[in-house]
Amino acid sequence: MGVAGSDYPGDYSVEFGVYRGGWLEAAQRYRHRTLQQKWVQAEKLSARTDFPEILKKRGCVGYRRLGVEWGGGHSATMDAPLLAIQKELEVPIALHWHNWHHLKFDNEYSHFLPPKPGFAERVKDLVSQGVLVMPYINGLSANFNIPDFANFGPHANVDEAGGYRMHHYSDSAGRLLSMCPTQEYWQNTISSLVQTLVEDYGVNAVYVDQIAAMEPELCFNRQHGHPLGGGLYWTDGNRELLTKVRNISGRQGRNPLITSEGTDEVFMDLVDGSLTWAQPTDREIPMMEVVYSGYAIFFASACDFKKSDEFFGYVHGQAFIDGRQNGWMDSSLFRPENSVKVEYLRQSARLRVATKRFLVYGRLWGPVLPENSIPTIRVDGFGSDRHAGTVPAAEARLWQDEDGHLAVFLANYGGGPVEFKYRIDPAKFGLSGRRYDITDIPPGGTIPISTATEAVERKETLGPRKVKVIEIAVRQRESVPPGSSR
Ligand SMILES: [Zn+2]
Repeated sequence: MGVAGSDYPGDYSVEFGVYRGGWLEAAQRYRHRTLQQKWVQAEKLSARTDFPEILKKRGCVGYRRLGVEWGGGHSATMDAPLLAIQKELEVPIALHWHNWHHLKFDNEYSHFLPPKPGFAERVKDLVSQGVLVMPYINGLSANFNIPDFANFGPHANVDEAGGYRMHHYSDSAGRLLSMCPTQEYWQNTISSLVQTLVEDYGVNAVYVDQIAAMEPELCFNRQHGHPLGGGLYWTDGNRELLTKVRNISGRQGRNPLITSEGTDEVFMDLVDGSLTWAQPTDREIPMMEVVYSGYAIFFASACDFKKSDEFFGYVHGQAFIDGRQNGWMDSSLFRPENSVKVEYLRQSARLRVATKRFLVYGRLWGPVLPENSIPTIRVDGFGSDRHAGTVPAAEARLWQDEDGHLAVFLANYGGGPVEFKYRIDPAKFGLSGRRYDITDIPPGGTIPISTATEAVERKETLGPRKVKVIEIAVRQRESVPPGSSR
């Protein structure tokens, strides 16, 4: 596809081989390898100096894609429903704010400014109430029909014949085409837009759409100075763009969150959160979380909450135990008829905050397989084809924090109680001690429940639609906690 002579030397090593095991073993091997690559050079989240203070303090935020009505009136009146949700959930929330701008979504890019009237006042109000305000912008596409496209055209991707490649994203979208990320003009357009939002309007986060979601697009523009149709220009160009965004928006002591769509790993050290919005499915595995836990934050458990409570429980329970930030739904979720779902979201969100040393800074080892038979539930509406699937009513995952403590995260997705029996050998995960303390971690405290001397064997009784976290730590003290001992 490329032009002869424009290829690039293999500048990374490739390893082929045969191994015994399934996806989990492959993911563990890949983790070991990928942690030595350029895109995790920023090290663990806990060690990153550029990791936003707002995330350090909280460990996480509740990203919500709320359909914020503009309406009329004062900012305080318009923001009241949002703040009521924050109060109900009892965790700090974030607003992934679409349609804050004057333009129609997916049109007139990249002229997002000016915002709708009252935007600055609303941002100020929400930020002062502890909300993370993250407006949407697009970091890749420009619209062919904007009046000054002549300025953008020379910096757009072109095909082999030198023509523009239009993308049809929807019937209501404009004539969008991808800009070449190597181009300083485009890099400056996006970074100055982010700078204005941060410095002039006071937002504490910006979502830069598409960059970490799109497959590389081959660019044959001979004026761009990169290899034609090949090479590393897509990755390197977007890395330069995101670096500029971070450097410019981070001036004057500001340190806003920069997030993007999707989980493209080559940009992972340059974003503070990766949006995961694929349709929930019974065929999903937490591969990215096993590989990148402790190094990246994945956010969203998007789902159609008009579907069953079981569907919602499965999607949100699995996001919780896998370490993905729950949320990304509009505010109609909080209508009275959805109270069962909201309660599931609330307990997952609160428990995530209480266990951030595992789910944000720790490592996901993988599923904890039950030693007993777990009932199943039938759930309709998985994936883009809306197929029905049979899934376990409860699942568990094993996490380890940076101090070496282990924790079993359990979620009961369904409406009946589930007994979940499991066995963990702490020595396999580097814990050595004569005795281990077993602790229940509900939101807002810890409850010592037992001790163990070798492998931990337990049976948890999970109430209907309940999530639970059990910590296993080497005993540091001599006093015997209450409860049974083993
Ligand atoms: Zn180009």
